Amino acid sequence: MPRYDFRCRSCGATFELRRPMAQANDPAVCPQGHEDTVKLLSAVAVTGAAAGRPAPSAGGGGGGGCCGGGCCGG
Ligand SMILES: [Zn+2]
Repeated sequence: MPRYDFRCRSCGATFELRRPMAQANDPAVCPQGHEDTVKLLSAVAVTGAAAGRPAPSAGGGGGGGCCGGGCCGG
């Protein structure tokens, strides 16, 4: 079940809830009981693996190779 981060605008606390995706946009109640909360955009993407990936050279041309032209991008 995905986790969603929320922030309470009443007390400034941040908290996370596990709820079905169908309820992702439902209002959440702060652990302190406040209802004025906002859902934070949490990075669902993996961290770590992508961080160490070498960045492709920008504007590279004529280098050849399969991945140079984006043919591997799918
Ligand atoms: Zn609160």
